[in-house]
Amino acid sequence: MKFETLAIHAGQEPDPNNGAVMTPVYFTSTYMQDGVGKPRQGYEYSRTLNPTRKALQDCLAALEGGNFGLTFSSGLAATDTILRLLNSEDHALAGNDVYGGTFRLFDKVLRRFNLDFTFADTTDPESVADALTPSTRLVWLETPTNPFLRITDIRAVAEIVHAHENKPLLVVDNTFATPYLQRPLELGADIVVHSMTKYLGGHSDVVGGAVIVKDKELADKLYFLQNAVGAVPGPMDCFLVLRGIKTLPLRMERHYENATAIVDFLASHPKVEKVIYPFHASHPQQKVAMRQMKNGGGMISFIIKGGREAAIRVVEATKIFALAESLGGVESLIEVPAAMTHLSVAGSQLEVDPALIRLSVGLEHQEDLIEDIKQALEKA
Ligand SMILES: *Cc1c(COP(=O)(O)O)cnc(C)c1O
Repeated sequence: MKFETLAIHAGQEPDPNNGAVMTPVYFTSTYMQDGVGKPRQGYEYSRTLNPTRKALQDCLAALEGGNFGLTFSSGLAATDTILRLLNSEDHALAGNDVYGGTFRLFDKVLRRFNLDFTFADTTDPESVADALTPSTRLVWLETPTNPFLRITDIRAVAEIVHAHENKPLLVVDNTFATPYLQRPLELGADIVVHSMTKYLGGHSDVVGGAVIVKDKELADKLYFLQNAVGAVPGPMDCFLVLRGIKTLPLRMERHYENATAIVDFLASHPKVEKVIYPFHASHPQQKVAMRQMKNGGGMISFIIKGGREAAIRVVEATKIFALAESLGGVESLIEVPAAMTHLSVAGSQLEVDPALIRLSVGLEHQEDLIEDIKQALEKA
């Protein structure tokens, strides 16, 4: 089946008891057993598995071209659980432009458990090769990155990583692209991770995370950790994401159309120093982006002339674009990463230009959005 059909049906069957078309929200923590050690249909306790969560996990596995899906109470809970595959003294290599919270978890929390991290420029596959060590067990990529929208060639990095004697796990955070635009497992990744809080949920009403893999042995280790650590989402959260995913293809097409119109507007605006967008001709990895992504997505970054002060004046002047963290919802958002989402990386090698403004382009009418940015730029 094609993506649009899977987005609506994968993992979801009308209820066999009453025909309900929508997956019920199973508000239950436990399940009656037919005898000692004889659970019905494999359900025993909802930390381990819940039917609403199972529908979502199966749907995500289908959309990413994987065989197994797992969901978590947040994107960072998913990330944390993956890192628990490692042992003390292991080395992990990550992009030098990863999500601020991912960097904070690696650098400020997991280092205390004797995990070793290196942050490298993964847009250059050679620098990935150079940064691998004899104890590297995991390589963490984000593409496009946040907020620079840098692109890493997943296939090229997968070849380098899998040639290493340890066979490190290649993890791709696919939050910005979503499986509609990019399927890392098909390009050689071992694990895909998502913040479902963003495009998968799509309506800024739920926080969640996901992990998708192909390999059964790896899936079993992760299911063990999911249950042993316990950072699982509730059934209502799973229902909201399942509902959001049904319109994912339509939303991603419109995010892209709107973003393209705004990129064209910004590129010719005298107060804009530079526009950053994966499918724009000025993007240094535009070719790789066009090869591995279906479209350029809904995220735009741009650098405003006049530095930090100008950036703050612009983001405080928009009327439709809401000044807020997060991204990927139907409503447009604007922010200054250096002062908001990326405060946790201030002073580190991941520091962001204070004049950089990030847009999460929503699904409002593009003329209203452009009008809004136009009047805000006048205040720069
Ligand atoms: C938001 C985000 C995360 C973290 O997800 P939460 O759901 O906020 O925990 C991880 N990676 C990327 C790229 C994100 O945008």
